[in-house]
Amino acid sequence: MQFLAKNNRNYSTKNNVYKTTDKTNHNMEPKFCQSCGMPLTEGMFGTNADGSRNEDYCLYCYKDGAFTKDCTMDEMIDFCAQFVDEVNKNMPKPMTKEEYKQMMRQYFPQLKRWKK
Ligand SMILES: [Zn+2]
Repeated sequence: MQFLAKNNRNYSTKNNVYKTTDKTNHNMEPKFCQSCGMPLTEGMFGTNADGSRNEDYCLYCYKDGAFTKDCTMDEMIDFCAQFVDEVNKNMPKPMTKEEYKQMMRQYFPQLKRWKK
């Protein structure tokens, strides 16, 4: 835990953590699901009512033109927190579930679905 505490501040600076990992497609604006914040890579896009690709949301959040879950931002954060191990695989340093939630609480209000 000491190790984590020491490095804690790395995670609190803005939300760079979502942007720094992928250097391969620097010509493209990296896309993230505007509901849950996960990276939108090929095959991860949601679908519109007509079956076409939705560029804003992932397939877990948005399917056939509608959100798969009707939830609040806090509920979404709780839901996403369970995948912290998954997220940590792409992180230079692992974070705890609580750290991940804190990060999402900062990041999610900027997403299209939660923006006021
Ligand atoms: Zn999503």
